[in-house]
Parts: sequence; C-alpha cells; structure tokens
Amino acid sequence: MHALWLENRRPSLRTDLPCPEPGPGETLVRVRLAGICATDLEMVKGYYPFTGVMGHEFVGETASPGALPIGTRVVGEINVVCGTCAECLAGRPSHCRHRTVLGISNLSGSFAEYLLLPERNLLPVPDNVPDDMAVFTEPLAAALQIQEQVALHPSDRVLLIGAGRLGQLIAQTLTLTGCDLKVVVRSAAPRQLLADRGIATLRPEEVQENSCDLAVEATGAAAGLALARHAVHPGGTIVLKSTYAGDTTLNLSQLVVNEITVVGSRCGPFAPALRLLASGYIDPRPLITARYDLDAGLEGLHAAAQPGALKVLLTP
Ligand SMILES: [Zn+2]
Ligand SMILES: [Zn+2]
Repeated sequence: MHALWLENRRPSLRTDLPCPEPGPGETLVRVRLAGICATDLEMVKGYYPFTGVMGHEFVGETASPGALPIGTRVVGEINVVCGTCAECLAGRPSHCRHRTVLGISNLSGSFAEYLLLPERNLLPVPDNVPDDMAVFTEPLAAALQIQEQVALHPSDRVLLIGAGRLGQLIAQTLTLTGCDLKVVVRSAAPRQLLADRGIATLRPEEVQENSCDLAVEATGAAAGLALARHAVHPGGTIVLKSTYAGDTTLNLSQLVVNEITVVGSRCGPFAPALRLLASGYIDPRPLITARYDLDAGLEGLHAAAQPGALKVLLTP
C-alpha cells in the first residue's frame, strides 16, 4: 500500500506498507480523497510526536463486510474511544483517556490507499454530497464545535481572527447563527472568498479595543491571540481553535482583571456537519486550492504550507 509516512518529523512516501486487516468491529475503508489540515503541517513541525501514516481528513468507501454494504461512501470520526473510561462515561468521548486519533495519535491515518476505523465511527455520506464536499466534514465539524461550547445570540458581536482553511469554514458556520460577524483578514484572496458569501471583513489594524463579545482565534499564530485579547471587552470570551507547535505567551493578569473566559475548542460533531453540507448552507469547495496524487503527496504538503494555500487534496 502507498501512504505518506511521518517519522522523526520527516514525511516520506512509502510504497511497502501492508494493507490493514480489520479486527472485530472494524471496517476497512478505501480512501477516495484526503485533505491536508494545519494540524498535519504542525505535526511536521513537531506539535505532537507521531510515527505512522499521516492524515485525518478523508472521504472513502467501505471495503470490508459489515452493517454498511461494501462500497458505501463514508466519512469517519477521527477519535477512536474505549467507551468505558470516566470521560467516555461522562459523555465526553473525544477526551477518552485511552483514545487513539486517526493520523495523529497511535492510529494509522488517511494519507493512504486504505485505513481502518471502528464501524461505529463511520457515517454514510448522502448521495447529494460529492466527494469534494464530504472531504471537509471533519474540519467543518471542528468549526461547529464553537457553537456546541458557546451560546451565540443574534445580538453578539463576534470577531473571527484568521481566514485560512479552518477560518473560512468557521466564518460560514458563524454567519448561520445570525450574529454580527466580522473576520480579520490580511490578504486579498481569502477576503474575496468571504465577500462572495456576504461576510464582513476588516484588516488587523482596523480592530478596535473592546469591540466584540466573542473573539475566535484561528490563525495559529501568537499575534492572533494578542489581537483577540485586544478586541474582546471585559467579561467577554476568547475561543482558541488553533493548535500551536511550542508554547505561546499571554498576559494572564489581563485575563484575570478583565474576567475573560478562554475556551479551548477541538473536534466537533460530524452528523450536523454532513447535514449542513447536504442542505447547501455550507459550500467548502471554493477553498480547494490544489490537488495532488497521493504519490506526489510530499509536493502536496509543501504546497499546503505556502502562504495563501487553503485546502490541498490528495487522491490515492
Ligand atoms: Zn484537521
Ligand atoms: Zn474512554
């Protein structure tokens, strides 16, 4: 099997991997399309030590017998959980103490011809959702996690900092809530994508102090966090959507004095993400900036790391 392999922070193309064999409760999935995410790029920088097949965003089709007929198009929840630990029993399975995570932690990922997931992790893709949309289910679910964690009202002034591959999806979901959304964006291409959907934008230097109730940080850079802190009024909330390789600094006393709530936000719900794609309320396809064959995946990783790159897709 061909796959993109990460070891000692160095990605490489492997052509010698065995096709995985499903164990009890597992389904073999043939990957139809995979997406490169900022997390994959951060892992190459050392955000999380991982050796194995990279990648967690995919749409595929079932390739072993189970409850779903062979050939069913599916997407898959990336956290594989035990179901019996305290976090699982408390209804927080994405924080399972024994979890493995597709292409991120102790589980072979989606930049490959085949992957394995428990059958319960798989969701069939509606017929009217093409692969080019379904491959965005995981990052769209991550965007929706904000609304799972924070109550948003139409009167809320919301500032989204960052209009990259995840920021664009967050902007599309936030605007559905009816809140007063503005997106901080520097370059022309992502600003145009937002303008095409009627979403208001401003430049970093135009952000006023104490001007929003909720700031969402989706740049993955420390400057974005500082801007969020500048923009949110006392008593407001900052949602952090980015993972960073290494540490970042923040004046904690300011958070204490101004009673700012900071919310870390990671994986979100897949079923609503698929529903929004099927309904047409969200269309992520304008975010696709490049496509590569899996065998040219190293070039794909390089392209995804360039400034201005949004979603780069890999086809096995
Ligand atoms: Zn991702
Ligand atoms: Zn568990």
